[in-house]
Amino acid sequence: MLSPVRVRDVEASRGTRAEGWLAIGEAASGLIRVPLVIINGAEDGPTLCLTAGVHATEYAPIAAVMELVQSVDPALLRGAIIAVPVTNMRMFESRTGFTSPLDGLNLNKIAPGRHDGSISEILADVMLREVIGAAGYHIDFHAGDLGEELYPFAGYSLTGRRDLDAKGEAMARAFTPRLISLSPPESTIPPFAGSLNYAATRNGVVSILAEAGGNGTLHERDVRVHVEGAGNVMRHLGMIDGSSAPQGRRVAARDRVIVRAKRAGLLRLTAQIGDEIEAGQELGDIRDVFGTVIERVCATGSGIVGLIWAHKVVNTGDPILRYWITEPA
Ligand SMILES: [Zn+2]
Repeated sequence: MLSPVRVRDVEASRGTRAEGWLAIGEAASGLIRVPLVIINGAEDGPTLCLTAGVHATEYAPIAAVMELVQSVDPALLRGAIIAVPVTNMRMFESRTGFTSPLDGLNLNKIAPGRHDGSISEILADVMLREVIGAAGYHIDFHAGDLGEELYPFAGYSLTGRRDLDAKGEAMARAFTPRLISLSPPESTIPPFAGSLNYAATRNGVVSILAEAGGNGTLHERDVRVHVEGAGNVMRHLGMIDGSSAPQGRRVAARDRVIVRAKRAGLLRLTAQIGDEIEAGQELGDIRDVFGTVIERVCATGSGIVGLIWAHKVVNTGDPILRYWITEPA
């Protein structure tokens, strides 16, 4: 007997694909729902959950999951894919960054949520128990949010369970183009407590964070990082044919540091995402309204530029960029 894969009333029998909606609750204008796609492969294999749009203005990851659910052929798949292209539809339709317009909560800071909480907490709870929890493996796709340019990376939250952590690290390595963030508990590098990744790993799911893109953009190169990374993960798990793409030099994150403005004015940044910077190196300058340079912004240490805030005018203390401190991996 070939077994169907089912999440509530969305059901795909062997070798088929199904799509539908999960109702989470109500808003005044109607149901709050999560779009769901199940691709049930023709042969046995692992179940991989793909989620995007936890932050629903992160468009490259959303586009990538949409592309993946259209391109994976159930006849050639071993195992199953359970995918949510946009987890937070209210943020998606209103183009809202970071937090839900319904309750002001950031879905990636409140996991595992609660079944009797506010709507974002209910959403976290349903996602973890019924969607991510239906899989053995999970990729949560993100990018920099509005106002954030980002260097791609993959992350995994270490649990102390050696078998699980070895699988998580291997999966993050299969995904990432270069940078990997393996996060011990209480760490300064992601995934952090409160994220879906952190909660999912505590439930025994091998769950990685996948980051590429940002600042409300939808660039093809960022979509490719996500689609190719997911393809590498599926090959690594034996779900599709082929071997993982040849892996280049990997670096592991040890810490990350924010460079902030001391003075206020127009920021002219010369540093770019992915730059390898040295301590003391000039990254740009800040000019007052008369055009006089009043601060030369310098690197406080050496690392890789991982996030640039898109704001061009800064006040004292505003973040300018964040760099990763790394080591060979
Ligand atoms: Zn995000």
